[in-house]
Amino acid sequence: MLIVMELAATPEEVAHVVKQVENRGYIAKQIPGGQRVSIGVLNNKGAVEKAVFMGLAGVKEVIPVTRAYKQVSREFQPKDTIVTVGDAVFGIGHFPIIAGPCAIESAEQALTIAHAVKAAGAVAFRGGAYKPRTSPYSFQGMGLAGLKILKKVREETGLVVATEVMDLETFDAVEEYTDILQIGTRNMQNFSLLKRAGKAQKPVMLKRGMAATIDEWLMAAEYILQGGNSQVILCERGVRTFVNHSRNTLDISAIPVVQKESHLPIIIDPSHAAGRRDQVLQLSRAAAAAEANGIMVEVHHDPDNAVSDGAQSLYPEQFETLCQQVQAVFNSYDH
Ligand code: PEP
Ligand code: MN
Repeated sequence: MLIVMELAATPEEVAHVVKQVENRGYIAKQIPGGQRVSIGVLNNKGAVEKAVFMGLAGVKEVIPVTRAYKQVSREFQPKDTIVTVGDAVFGIGHFPIIAGPCAIESAEQALTIAHAVKAAGAVAFRGGAYKPRTSPYSFQGMGLAGLKILKKVREETGLVVATEVMDLETFDAVEEYTDILQIGTRNMQNFSLLKRAGKAQKPVMLKRGMAATIDEWLMAAEYILQGGNSQVILCERGVRTFVNHSRNTLDISAIPVVQKESHLPIIIDPSHAAGRRDQVLQLSRAAAAAEANGIMVEVHHDPDNAVSDGAQSLYPEQFETLCQQVQAVFNSYDH
């Protein structure tokens, strides 16, 4: 439930409402908004007594939140969340491009790619240090050494860095070294990880599970907000379908649906959706046309010899073209 205060409500009246909410064993959360103060009521088991709150001084309206996810919903917070990390701004009116290799392979590889993607227009570098691989025999990532390379990339290029956090054991280290914590598709419903991400001091990019509905995805994001971290970026990376012309099927309709249901920014990962580089440019333009809040693209200077996801990684020249075209699409409509 959402308690909307009058424009002229005094701080004492707001404090009194908060106290009344807490006295009933609920959690009161102030919602960022325009000039008005709104207080979200959380943790109620059943319906909250609307009339009691309507009767309090300074209260304008009491609105029930009908969705199962509360804090991520637009009902709860009508205003868009903008996640700002250095030069990367995720939210309405911006189109940040994150790029980098699937995995960090060496300092030289990471820096070569980072300089190239920065020159093309990327604002953030993404490379995996801990890799969730289908086969235990595949390269599992460089681990801590990879995190240290990410730090070096940030120092040398000024780019914001992002990497995947796979488990609780390595969470602290990943949080220390990276600017954006990625939770991958296979971990979207790893509830222990989501709870830990709720305590993190860094923004979280939550990928959609490969067979998750949008409701399940938003409920997963709710765990992170419930834990206290409201800096969440959603990432659509394709869902599994019957098709065999691509690795997954990019669900472009997730963009308007998520933006209607939630105030959180949503970006698109065309690389894991396609699984092959010849579709990445078109899918990226489609993401911009559908008003996504950014994209994340795999790029490698030598994809034929990449340790993972080489087939879907763009050559730096292709990435440069992509940045220009996507920017042109983004500039072609009003924000
Ligand atoms: C990745 O981003 O490299 C990755 C493993 O992605 P996903 O979790 O979407 O498969
Ligand atoms: Mn990958």
